[in-house]
Amino acid sequence: MQLKELWNFMQVDMAADNFEAEMRKSPNRQKLLKRRNLLLELQNNNKRIDSEIAVMQDRLEAVRDEAARLEALLKTALEELQAAPPADMDEAQRKLDSVQKLTDTISRYEQELTKMRKDADSRDRQQKDIRVRAAKAKQEYDQIKVVYDKEYKQDTAKLAEMKKNIEAEAAKQNPELLERYRSIKQHCTPPMARLADGQCCGCFMQLPSATLRALKEGTLVECDNCGRILYCEEE
Ligand SMILES: [Zn+2]
Repeated sequence: MQLKELWNFMQVDMAADNFEAEMRKSPNRQKLLKRRNLLLELQNNNKRIDSEIAVMQDRLEAVRDEAARLEALLKTALEELQAAPPADMDEAQRKLDSVQKLTDTISRYEQELTKMRKDADSRDRQQKDIRVRAAKAKQEYDQIKVVYDKEYKQDTAKLAEMKKNIEAEAAKQNPELLERYRSIKQHCTPPMARLADGQCCGCFMQLPSATLRALKEGTLVECDNCGRILYCEEE
């Protein structure tokens, strides 16, 4: 049994894993991701507003055309009224009603046009605000990127060094033990745990006496509960 060697190997292995995890948590990396996500969000908002504007533009043109058509109708109706005054009160009332109806519709369209122009203005302002925020985020992103790229390069070199060391240490291990270690690590890390007072220090479960006996006899024993390789310092 070469559990002590495997235990020492685990220390370098875990140190590299921790270092890699720290790299992912790097404040500069987090800042960079935050800016990148903000930029994506702003781009999406801008696209959404673009498509809203396109829809509004279509509607605006349709309403404007319809209002112009009704205005022409109104003009014709008024001209006809002037050229040939109504013969009686009934006819006068009918003609006035239809003129009134046209005027009402035109004024409704005009209200709608005013509202749409206001909406368009407000969307213009939103897009302007987005452009300002995006420019700021991009500038910050670029600044952090320079720092982070340098940090990442250094950390990557350090990690590669650690992994090289792990490979060298791995070559000194009992291959079967190492394979067991790696297979346990897939689902449980760190894959080894000390034994103290009959307890597994990985999951703090009290181990049955048969397990403890087997451990004393020098066999490879895994914790019944968490599956870690148990390591006894006295060994
Ligand atoms: Zn355990």
